[in-house]
Amino acid sequence: MNEKIYALLDTAKKTASEMRHAASSVGYLARKEAGKAASNAQLNLQILTKQREIQAAYQELGKLMYDKHSGNAPESDNLMEKLEALDALHLEVAELEKQSGRVFVVKTCPTCGAERKDGDAYCRTCGEKFKAE
Ligand SMILES: [Zn+2]
Repeated sequence: MNEKIYALLDTAKKTASEMRHAASSVGYLARKEAGKAASNAQLNLQILTKQREIQAAYQELGKLMYDKHSGNAPESDNLMEKLEALDALHLEVAELEKQSGRVFVVKTCPTCGAERKDGDAYCRTCGEKFKAE
């Protein structure tokens, strides 16, 4: 599990640095696009980092449960604090995922699947009336 996360993390890092490299060697538009992709890679990296923290928290909690079971739990285990910290991590990941989704989400027509641009009230392809967002 951890190895998989590290591998993904590595890929994300590499992508981010490749994107930055690409951004410095090509024109403005491409730079803008690459910048978007790089910031998305940054977000993915943050998400992976948080997910790693979550995994670590799970492991710690699992050990704590086992220590309780086997009678080796410390007097004060801060269980609630740890669970709340885990809640916070999950919230942060959800927020980051929302941000990263915002970068790449392409809205589409529910009827024909054509791209729906911001502000379109009707589908440019099939004429479907869109519900207000
Ligand atoms: Zn359509």
